[in-house]
Amino acid sequence: MTSSQPSGLGAEYADKASEAYRAALQVIESVEPRVAEATRKELEDQRSSLKLIASENYASPAVLLTMGTWFSDKYAEGTVGHRFYAACQNVDTVEALAAEHARELFGAPYAYAQPHSGIDANLVAYWAILATRVEAPGLAELGAKHVNDLSEADWETLRNRMGNQRLMGMSLDTGGHLTHGFRPNISGKMFHQRQYGTDPTTGFIDYDAVAAAVREFKPLVLVAGYSAYPRRVNFAKMREIADEVGATLMVDMAHFAGLVAGKVFTGDEDPVPFAHVTTTTTHKSLRGPRGGLVLATEEYAPAVDKGCPMVLGGPLSHVMAAKAVALAEARQPAFREYAQDVADNAQALANGFLKRDAALVTGGTDNHLVLLDVTSFGLTGRQAESALLDAGIVTNRNAIPADPNGAWYTSGIRLGTPALTTRGFGADDFDRVAELVVEVLQNTQPAAGPNGPSKAKYTLADGTAERVHAAASELLDANPLYPGLTL
Ligand code: PLP
Repeated sequence: MTSSQPSGLGAEYADKASEAYRAALQVIESVEPRVAEATRKELEDQRSSLKLIASENYASPAVLLTMGTWFSDKYAEGTVGHRFYAACQNVDTVEALAAEHARELFGAPYAYAQPHSGIDANLVAYWAILATRVEAPGLAELGAKHVNDLSEADWETLRNRMGNQRLMGMSLDTGGHLTHGFRPNISGKMFHQRQYGTDPTTGFIDYDAVAAAVREFKPLVLVAGYSAYPRRVNFAKMREIADEVGATLMVDMAHFAGLVAGKVFTGDEDPVPFAHVTTTTTHKSLRGPRGGLVLATEEYAPAVDKGCPMVLGGPLSHVMAAKAVALAEARQPAFREYAQDVADNAQALANGFLKRDAALVTGGTDNHLVLLDVTSFGLTGRQAESALLDAGIVTNRNAIPADPNGAWYTSGIRLGTPALTTRGFGADDFDRVAELVVEVLQNTQPAAGPNGPSKAKYTLADGTAERVHAAASELLDANPLYPGLTL
């Protein structure tokens, strides 16, 4: 076991995990063998490919096994100790543990462990901000009536107020997320939105430009955080900008929560002390189960705590239990080493590309991801993604700023280091990964479709896929996933 691997992922648990999974698969097989088969195959596929998707990771067997229990069967709408369902005492235990670990890990006054995903966490946060900033004064003016006593006209006043607030977040093509005010997403429909971008020359956030845009638009909510921005953000500056117009600062740290937890991002780069509300997923660099979390200051906590019934129904109790396990893992000293390795490996990956003359958005990285501009290879993101997959390299295509190929075909490939770092990959391995990616892209040519030039079709030079597959297998075999686990 390397220092990067979480407890439960090391060989010392392999026998127990093997027994558990073998038994589980036999039980599943007796009901629907095709599901058991696909589950075995998924492990094989994950073991035998270079997983570079920046938002994915490998959770420990302890986290995975926690999700497969009878907590899945329990309804528990409400909050710890205050449920709309009976017999929730054990759910109370695991939800309270998840929240406690999250508060301790991130130094937050309050944590809400119920969101089912990152999108849910953001919706809970938005409605909590609206409830805190808009609904309460509205209700006060309406005579502080109980909700049941509000007339239709009162509701209409409230709806108009809630629905006409302003939000500003980072645009999708410069690295923001759909939920940060992108028009087709509900966040871009429930709010009057405007977006900030990055400097067109450097690709970096220009804080003066963000401040000017915020001064002009005066949003109620300023969102910071990203899905595909390869740089750190100065959250102290973002808070100053928000304060100037009285905006609530919400930070979505879904992508880099592991780097915050692992104390790689500290000081101005740690969003939690500066944001009024911080949201995250638990399954990306944080290496937990699929799910969301919301952290908040005392001021916003009461509204976030009403995530159910405001936005959510019954929490996924089995996933909250797994969040508690994953957050406990993230509090271990080994997680700090892991987080530092993730950042160091991203540097090695970026340098590996730069020394082979591949173009990177912003010219490099200082977080866990790089954004490769594949136009220099004469390819679209779609062609590059498909060719890499043929060679066993799993990435995802991603828009680059002002992308000439739009959000579907794109001109970029996003690559992240969290997953392979969990397997034990080091800096030299990531340099080799960069070499293999470049080898595939140099051997890929755009091809025409039946109606002329195509942004999807491509040809890969003979022998490339086999050669790269073989080289990747050497790296993968030296850094096995779930070492010792046999099904
Ligand atoms: N926020 C950010 C910044 C993300 O990158 C993502 C996922 O890609 C989400 C939110 C949504 O997370 P989920 O897929 O769990 O809903």
